[in-house]
Amino acid sequence: MELDWGNLGFGYIKTDFNIRCNYSNGAWGEITIHQDEYLTLHMAATSLHYGQESFEGLKAFRGKDGKVRIFRMRDNALRMQDSSDGTMMARVPVEIFEEAVVKAVTLNERFVPPYESGASLYIRPLLFGSGPQVGVRPSAEYMFIVFVTPVGPYFKGGFQTTPFVIMREYDRSAPLGMGKFKVGGNYAASLVAGERAHQLGYSNIFYLDAKEKKYIDECGAANFFGIKDNTYVTPKSTSILPSITNKSLMTLAADMGLKVEQRHIPVEELATFEEAGACGTAAVISPIERIDDYDEKKSYVFAPDGKPGPVCDKLYHKLLAIQYGDEADQYGWVTLVE
Ligand SMILES: *Cc1c(COP(=O)(O)O)cnc(C)c1O
Repeated sequence: MELDWGNLGFGYIKTDFNIRCNYSNGAWGEITIHQDEYLTLHMAATSLHYGQESFEGLKAFRGKDGKVRIFRMRDNALRMQDSSDGTMMARVPVEIFEEAVVKAVTLNERFVPPYESGASLYIRPLLFGSGPQVGVRPSAEYMFIVFVTPVGPYFKGGFQTTPFVIMREYDRSAPLGMGKFKVGGNYAASLVAGERAHQLGYSNIFYLDAKEKKYIDECGAANFFGIKDNTYVTPKSTSILPSITNKSLMTLAADMGLKVEQRHIPVEELATFEEAGACGTAAVISPIERIDDYDEKKSYVFAPDGKPGPVCDKLYHKLLAIQYGDEADQYGWVTLVE
């Protein structure tokens, strides 16, 4: 089988192996290697009924030197532990998480796209309650699985901007709710709004805080940042998922001499940004062309010519260069796979 590396999308492609580890009787078992894509699961598993589930998303990149690098794996392991705490699931120990991810990448190495393609290997760890319960209680058993799938460069025709839309009739998550955890239920809760946005020609919904509808929250399933007066501004909110990409961009922005602010951002402040972007593992940065306020019939335009701004462009290329190993890993973000 030959994959057309240059034309991969963002979808599931079967690879050779997946890695699993089960939790029962209060302890994690052995890490095992599987070829089967299907699971045998109890029909009363808590994940199916009560949403005890979390997932992660990270990537491995092949460098010019042919070596494979995994980006910020430990941060994903720690974030999955937070999701466990938020849903009363067993925590996957960092060592098990890291060993499973490295095994999944190593055993499927032939699916890590070549450097020139601009593609990468997407890694999807997931954890869910697998034990039976009918009453609302946490499961006594959990399954942790890591699978991988090759994905294409997010921007096929080059780095591009897209529009978003504010619609106050939808919330992604409550201020004291689950938004800060990477759980499947948040995605189920966003599908109707996302579909509506797509139908209207937008990339996704631009969420405001659910309580007051005054502050910027998330940009679809991505974090938001704005650039103005040599400052990188990103929202502080209890309902936002702490993006590892955003954290990385804040570090890089500070290193480039930008001020970095993490604070409440009133929606009207959108009018003052010179550039704006959505960030996450899939795209790194998805620069925002404009944000239309559907209810107030207003439009905040960041890229009148449709082109990403200079700061977005610089941050984007800098982060990719570290991920692909073109630039030195001065922050210890990269795990080289032997
Ligand atoms: C995964 C995710 C992000 C992006 O996080 P990264 O670690 O940068 O990939 C942002 N928002 C939500 C809701 C997410 O689930």
